[in-house]
Amino acid sequence: MTQDLEKKIEVISINDSIPEENGPRVPHERQVIDTIIEIWKQDPNTENLGVSKLHSIVKQKHSNWSLSEKRVRQLLKKFGLSTNQEQFTYAKDIKSELTPDINLPPKIQVVMTSKRGKCLYAKKPITKGELIWEEKPLFFIPPLANVKLISHGSACSYCGKLLQQTEMKTVLKGLDCNVCSEIWCSKECKQQDGDLHSILKHNVYNPTTKKSKFINPDSFITLQDYCLEESWNALYAITLIYAQILLDKSGTKQKQFNAMAKVSQDIRYKALNSGGGTFDNMNGGALFVQEQQKTLWKEGYEKFLSVFPKNPITYKEFLYMMGTYNINNLDSNIYLTQSHLNHNCNPNTSVDTNINRISGLKVFAKTNIKEGEEITTTYVNPNHTLNQRQRELRVNWGFICNCEKCINDSNEQKRRKSSTSNQQTNAKNIRNMLKETSESMGDKEFELSIPQDGFNGERRKSVRFDEKVVAVNN
Ligand SMILES: [Zn+2]
Ligand SMILES: [Zn+2]
Ligand SMILES: [Zn+2]
Repeated sequence: MTQDLEKKIEVISINDSIPEENGPRVPHERQVIDTIIEIWKQDPNTENLGVSKLHSIVKQKHSNWSLSEKRVRQLLKKFGLSTNQEQFTYAKDIKSELTPDINLPPKIQVVMTSKRGKCLYAKKPITKGELIWEEKPLFFIPPLANVKLISHGSACSYCGKLLQQTEMKTVLKGLDCNVCSEIWCSKECKQQDGDLHSILKHNVYNPTTKKSKFINPDSFITLQDYCLEESWNALYAITLIYAQILLDKSGTKQKQFNAMAKVSQDIRYKALNSGGGTFDNMNGGALFVQEQQKTLWKEGYEKFLSVFPKNPITYKEFLYMMGTYNINNLDSNIYLTQSHLNHNCNPNTSVDTNINRISGLKVFAKTNIKEGEEITTTYVNPNHTLNQRQRELRVNWGFICNCEKCINDSNEQKRRKSSTSNQQTNAKNIRNMLKETSESMGDKEFELSIPQDGFNGERRKSVRFDEKVVAVNN
């Protein structure tokens, strides 16, 4: 009778907050993966943990989850997050050619290699601290986030720099556009922008006039808004790059861009999909479904095409442009010489881009560089852990780094791991020994407090028979 009644009563929670589910439940695979990624993000050291420890941390976070260690192992494998798994790389798919019309710095030469593509080498010894070269961007890309401010005239139309009220008086100095409401921060910016501004932004598209007929400004504004909405900098950038290529009648910019390390975006995406990418959904993170991604690319491609009605490119070329931009840009801009630099986690140069965005960059020697030594830069933050660096390099540039720092870090990691597992074996042996002792003594109240698995590899050895004594860290 009571049971029947219970069945008929619907229990409604009056509390607004979502109540913690009490009973055990089977989590969705996405929830498990999200939790694991969250754990890794919070403490990168946990990336080295084996499945059983990872499983126990997940269970600590969600005690009501009915989740076996076996399922955790299967899911890690399924999502390409397992560390023992063969990792997808695409360095072999990156092609490059010697760059035409390049003025190299006096102490530098380019060497073409089969495995590492184009490399820069020192022709002469370089002293620590020396300025090796400086250069302006080949393609300058203003910050996407500022495009609205640009169109309202509160940021420079070329460099995107925010303008103060006082600076807006520069309008009087002839730095405003006489067609639209945009303004420039300096003569230099106005000059650099040149024809690009009116061709992209002035709504005078007329298919029958000769001037500016290769770009549809209405479509450009639509694309710009779309990029902002989707936080899609690469689409915005390649549109600006293609416009500059079309404007360059000499054809040099086209040849130089084509000679860069080239790869298709869909190949890069495979690496992202196969192993925990950047974990960032804004950047098309690991769990962004491939189908969704393809739909987005197609949509972006259509918008790109309508900007350039007279100069269409194929979808394949579009994906190549995007991939090539993504692996070559530095702070969104493309530099001709700098893009030749290969990666090392402990590089011999430091690249200074902080001067201001349009002034470009300066490359300094970080150490003394011998004649014949390769010049390197770092693509990732060298202070990140080995695993973070390896993942970023593999996903974003398609290779597994084998530099000296990575090899040293990996050896150090192995050393720590093996000393941890020795300790665990010790702890297990001691536990067995104590168990035997207590069994042989037949004393059921004999309390055992033994270090459990899962301490962070710290030396913590204290085996106590008396529960009042707290384990001692030494
Ligand atoms: Zn400016
Ligand atoms: Zn204008
Ligand atoms: Zn490395």
